[in-house]
Amino acid sequence: RAKKDGPSRVLLYQPYMHAEALDRLSLRGDLQRALREGEFRLQYQPLVRLADGDAAGVEALIRWESPTRGFVSPVDFIPIAEEFGLIVEIGQWVLETSAVQVARWRRDFPDLGLNVNVSGHQLVHPRFADNVMRALAIAGLPSSAVTLELTESVLMSEPDLGKAALHQLRGLGVQLSIDDFGTGYSSLAYLRELPVDELKIDRAFIARAELTAEDLALVRTIVELAQILGLRVVAEGIENAAQLAALRGLGCGYGQGYHLCRPVDPEAVPEQLARAQVESPVGVLDHRSTA
Ligand code: C2E
Ligand code: MG
Ligand code: MG
Ligand code: MG
Repeated sequence: RAKKDGPSRVLLYQPYMHAEALDRLSLRGDLQRALREGEFRLQYQPLVRLADGDAAGVEALIRWESPTRGFVSPVDFIPIAEEFGLIVEIGQWVLETSAVQVARWRRDFPDLGLNVNVSGHQLVHPRFADNVMRALAIAGLPSSAVTLELTESVLMSEPDLGKAALHQLRGLGVQLSIDDFGTGYSSLAYLRELPVDELKIDRAFIARAELTAEDLALVRTIVELAQILGLRVVAEGIENAAQLAALRGLGCGYGQGYHLCRPVDPEAVPEQLARAQVESPVGVLDHRSTA
């Protein structure tokens, strides 16, 4: 094969690549063990209603503390789990664990919602809708309390398969969100056809030291788009008071970010839910609608 590909392919055989391949294989083994041994856990980050500072829901975020590797970010291990076919099982664990947890919190916070990130590999799995409904049944959590977050790139890469599964889940009462909105290439026409309930504006537009006029105009456009389509809109990555004020001024309905609340361990969630994350602004939103 090396001969046929010619001299330019000699790079394929560099030792560092061999090491990388070995590392990926060992990562697969480590991920399998992590599932088996219960090394994954979840943190939760509130989604805050900007009008009154209350937490409307929480987003489940997976964490992996490997005994050999230390903390590994989901940004690094989720793609590997997808590649090796482990994401469906990991994703199911996330769904079941977070659903059970949120059902428990809802005894004290009855309107609390749950947002769960879903990989494209889960979405196209033939039993995905069944798997979601099974997790909710185990937990005793109503489907209307759950919002599944899918990224724009996932939705665009499997437009037809994805759409069928999304319509099925929507029919069962589950809500759907487009995560990292603004970084992909969804067309307006596609957005209109999708059975979506929520847009999450990617933090690339928000989490900058200073919001430029251009950033603000883009965010305003997304907020208005959401209002026209009747969708909730969540701003991700709010890191300071100036960003928060700007988003409130635009009539953005919800926000997430370190300035409001960091992702926290389950033990710390009830105390976060009990307090408004920010003071209610006076007179800022009263002349605008919120999406
Ligand atoms: P995401 O779903 O867009 O989640 C938001 C990420 O931004 C989280 O990172 C969160 O901790 C972080 N974040 C929140 N507020 C701020 C802020 O103010 N500033 C900054 N710089 N970051 C903020 P995390 O937990 O490392 O997750 C990264 C990504 O990994 C997630 O992006 C999601 O795509 C994926 N992920 C996490 N948990 C799961 C899961 O259970 N299943 C799947 N399939 N993917 C997951
Ligand atoms: Mg998300
Ligand atoms: Mg996001
Ligand atoms: Mg993201």
